[in-house]
Amino acid sequence: MKKMTCKQLGGPETCDKEFRAETFEEIKEMSMQHGKEMFQKQDQNHLQAMQVMKEKMQDPQEMQIWVEEKRKEFDELAEE
Ligand SMILES: [Zn+2]
Repeated sequence: MKKMTCKQLGGPETCDKEFRAETFEEIKEMSMQHGKEMFQKQDQNHLQAMQVMKEKMQDPQEMQIWVEEKRKEFDELAEE
């Protein structure tokens, strides 16, 4: 299992929520699920971070680069 935090996955600086998964796809899914929950709670920190991500996603190429960087980060993590 590998561990990444919400912050590492594009969340706000203030969020240290940890996700554990075997694959990057899984951890990405978990962070998105957490994002949805925070959105429902109208958490201001997450809403702000989401706004930044949304702007990034408008450029598919930039978004792709971001995802690949995070995938690399995940791959380089030590197994727990
Ligand atoms: Zn979070």
